[in-house]
Amino acid sequence: MKAYIGLGSNLGNREENIRKAVALLEKSQGIKLVKLSPFYETEPVGDIPQGKFINAAAEIYTAISPSGLLAVCRNIEDELGRVRTVKWGPRTIDLDVLLYGEEVIYTAELTVPHPLMHEREFVLRPLSDIAPNAYHPVLGKTIQELLEGL
Ligand code: ADP
Ligand code: MG
Repeated sequence: MKAYIGLGSNLGNREENIRKAVALLEKSQGIKLVKLSPFYETEPVGDIPQGKFINAAAEIYTAISPSGLLAVCRNIEDELGRVRTVKWGPRTIDLDVLLYGEEVIYTAELTVPHPLMHEREFVLRPLSDIAPNAYHPVLGKTIQELLEGL
């Protein structure tokens, strides 16, 4: 299955945090990294005062289930020392499952496509660099179209 992971960091050495997360993704059993977007520096969104982010997106081929993929992402966050404080607060590393093929998933722990991706330029911009024609199965639009619609 082709899937897309969104990465973000706004604490510590942000580029290095993202590079390390990508390296750990690549090393994970059942995951093949296919594409990595350029890195973008982005303004934090929301009411919490915090530093700018670096964001990127990765295309992977994976044999792992969606929930397994979420577990891999959480393990990488833990390994890189992410401390969970406030929701939407600063983080050393955040990995989100953006798309998993064209599957639509709503469980207590996982929503795919990621519920806010279509509103967030910091997600859509790097994703459109590597997957402009990837399809959002709920909104019925490509990533390029979603980005143009912002
Ligand atoms: P956020 O990324 O929204 O700032 P967190 O990274 O702390 O917040 O994620 C909180 C929880 O969101 C995760 O533990 C996970 O269970 C849930 N979640 C739901 N859908 C997704 C998704 N598509 N990708 C990653 N996490 C998700
Ligand atoms: Mg997250």
